[in-house]
This record gives sequence, structure tokens and C-alpha cells, in this order.
Amino acid sequence: MNLLDMLPEELESAMLALGEKKFRAAQVFSWLHKGAGFDEMANIPKPLRERLKGECALGGAKIIKHQESRDGTVKYLYELEDGERVEGVRMKYKHGVSLCVSTQAGCEMGCAFCASTIGGCARNLLPGEMLGEVLAAQRDCEERISNVVLMGSGEPMLNLTNVLKFIRLLSLPDGLNISLRSVSVSTCGLPEGIARLADSGLPVTLAISLHAPNDEIRQKLMPVAQRIPIEAVIKAARGYVRGTGRRVIFEYALIAGVNDETAHARELAGRLRGLQCHVNLIPLNALPESELKGAAPERISAFLQALTDLHISATQRRSLGADIDGACGQLRRVYNGGEV
Ligand code: SAH
Repeated sequence: MNLLDMLPEELESAMLALGEKKFRAAQVFSWLHKGAGFDEMANIPKPLRERLKGECALGGAKIIKHQESRDGTVKYLYELEDGERVEGVRMKYKHGVSLCVSTQAGCEMGCAFCASTIGGCARNLLPGEMLGEVLAAQRDCEERISNVVLMGSGEPMLNLTNVLKFIRLLSLPDGLNISLRSVSVSTCGLPEGIARLADSGLPVTLAISLHAPNDEIRQKLMPVAQRIPIEAVIKAARGYVRGTGRRVIFEYALIAGVNDETAHARELAGRLRGLQCHVNLIPLNALPESELKGAAPERISAFLQALTDLHISATQRRSLGADIDGACGQLRRVYNGGEV
């Protein structure tokens, strides 16, 4: 029994099943969602604390490595209770503090530019483990974490039941109370998952990793494009906008000589016409393992200008944490001896 996986009503049932009073659930919940361990639960009688320790697990995450960049960005390596490791990044923006959360240990999608996928996917994270990442980072940070982006390792749509529960846990008023409007879910574009997310009624932002204006280029970068054509991804995005009334974000990492021509920008603009969306241009964070290199700054500016000229809302994402193992999955690999 992992306590951090539980919604308040589930924790109540668990307390009753242990023969405890219902009000203990709210007390324990409050400690859990402050990131406290069993020994810190000061208003819980010691015998109950010992019982909880013996019969339940927290099921969270603890920080085992903390790397701080000169710009204030912090990269975390977390350890889960079975010894599996995942990473996350805390970033400071004008609008608040944002935490990037991993949804799986590793990833099976195989994108050519991404370090998280190099050793495949070890396992899905449980809701409490994702929450545990946020709780541990919040304990480590004086300012309130206001935004959560599911852009760490893993493909959220392949672990969607756990992801949806995690998002509910994040937003509980007696817990972290994070506004769902400040939560983004990033996917490589799996239409069934996108439809399920829209149907969940959770008002989160959907981000789709597109990275190419057509199937030919996309297939070179993202194996998933061999199964799912770009038109199907964009159709799913249109469905999301229709179903939720919320605009979709497209992520596009600019890679030198691959997808960074202004002709690509124009082709992309054509595909996105009439869709309520925003394009986030990301300078590629080049991996030592890969031949792919980031586009030159003037190419990025020209690409951005071409989109803007065609009335596609677009911005270039600020690059943070360049002096720490920035790209997704790099830190975990370093700490697993490069083996994962
Ligand atoms: N699996 C999900 C979420 C995790 S990746 C997805 O595909 O969206 C989060 C974002 O980082 C994605 O847009 C991904 O394509 C991008 N990304 C991964 N490696 C990168 C790198 N080396 N440089 C720039 N962006 C990268």
C-alpha cells in the first residue's frame, strides 16, 4: 500500500481498514503532501506511526543528486523506493517556478535526439512517485512551485491512468493546490491518449512534440511517425481544441540541416492553418551520443520569422541550465554509468 498514491477518500478507507478513526486520514494526508516522512508526523500517535511504517510505504521519491546552474536552474536525480532513478528540472521564470516531471523511468519511443530513450523504458511511474518528485523538489525550494510540466523522461500517454491520477493529486486544495491551468502534458502525439486526456475534463495544457513539417523528416527523428502520420497527430490536436476550448502547443526542436529551413517553416504553417495553437521552437540540446546538432541562431530567428509572417503564433524557448547536464535523460545516464 503506497500512501502517496491515494486520494483523500482512499486514505480514509485505508485508515478505517486499519481500525483507525477517519480523521487520522486528513492528518496523514496533510503530512504526506508536505513531503514529510512517517517520523515527522507529529500529531500522529507513535504506535500508529509505527504501524503505518510497518504496513504501508510512502511510494514517493527522494533527491539523491542536486546540480545547480549559474542561472538558478536546478537538475534533480531522484531515487524511487525500489532503487529506480528518474530526473527532473526546476526552472525559474517571470511567472513563477516550474518543475519538469518524469512519468516513466526511461522511455520506449526511440526519438533520435533524446537521451531518455537510449536504454528503453524500465517501468511506468506510479501517481505517488510523480507526486513524490514534486514534493521533494518543493521541500528543496523556498519559492512555491507554481507550474508542472510533464516533459521529463517517459511518454505520458503510455502511462495515462497513473498520470491522470497524479494530476488530480497535484491539484487537491489540501495538498499542493497547483492550478490545473498551470500543468502541461507533453506527448510525442499518440491520438488515443490525446482523446482520453480531452475527455478527462482536466483543464491542462496539451503539448505535442512535432519536430518536423512532414512525415519524411518526422520519420527520421521519431520512430512513432512510422505508425502515426503527422496528419493523424494534427487531427487529434484539432479534436483536443474542439473538445476543451484550449489551444495546443507544438514543440519543434531545430536541428541543423534536418528541419531548420524556412521552407520547412512554411510547410508547417500550412499544416497548422486554422488550428488554435502556439509553436514553441526549442534549440536542440545536442547529445554526445548523437550526430544531430542544434540549428544556428540565425536559422532559428529566420524560422521564427517565417512562421510569424504566416500568422502562426510562435516563440523561441529560452535555454536554461546550459552548464549542467541539460538534455532530458542525461543525468540519469551519467549516474547509471552510461548503461541505461
Ligand atoms: N515523451 C513526451 C515528453 C517527454 S520529452 C514527448 O515526446 O513530448 C519533452 C520534450 O523534450 C519533447 O518535446 C522532446 O521531443 C524534447 N526533447 C527531448 N530531447 C531533446 C533534446 N536533446 N533537445 C531538445 N528537446 C528535446
